[in-house]
Amino acid sequence: MRIQPWNIVFLGGFIVYLGIRFVFARRTRGNEKVVSRVGPDRILIALVSIGGLLLPVLYLFTPWLSFADYRLPAQVPWFGTIVMGFALWLFWRSHADLGPNWSVTLEVRKGHQLVKHGVYRLIRHPMYASIWLIGVAQGLLLQNWLAGWSALVTFALTYFLRTPREEQMMVEVFGEEYRDYMRQTGRILPRFH
Ligand code: SAH
Repeated sequence: MRIQPWNIVFLGGFIVYLGIRFVFARRTRGNEKVVSRVGPDRILIALVSIGGLLLPVLYLFTPWLSFADYRLPAQVPWFGTIVMGFALWLFWRSHADLGPNWSVTLEVRKGHQLVKHGVYRLIRHPMYASIWLIGVAQGLLLQNWLAGWSALVTFALTYFLRTPREEQMMVEVFGEEYRDYMRQTGRILPRFH
């Protein structure tokens, strides 16, 4: 392994990220689904796993990606650590606030509640915002063009293909209540009137 402080910070953050996912995935496992819009989601999840998991693991544990190494100014990874910390907090809070309504693919569960509190009060997609930020932190911590920026590129594609479909599904299920919620909030940045 490349034992270098920023790689360890990234790995630690990444383990926390997977841990949060694992805990909440277990909690919502038995919930019954009433609407399911899988579409291209599984392909997109596979793509995000390559950018966010496979390439960083290859970078950390093999020499194969060393041709794409570069050096960042010394302050940059400190900034990456702060971004990672904030992103993990947001990732955790969005799972906690969504509670039993969370799912990996686009689904509406039995008794699904529209969540508008906590981190959902200002933005509609705090979990996606946190994944964007984890992608940025990865780029600021791992000093390699491929392993550093792959998560951001693969997640960008997922975000732009998935978010409009998710909002369309939410409008179909929650109607005017979701439209109102859209008027009051931004997608990943708060809307200031
Ligand atoms: N896009 C959200 C949630 C991601 S999880 C975010 O980034 O935070 C995806 C699932 O969450 C979708 O299948 C949808 O059913 C559910 N969902 C999205 N927004 C929701 C909300 N405001 N209230 C309840 N469920 C929501």
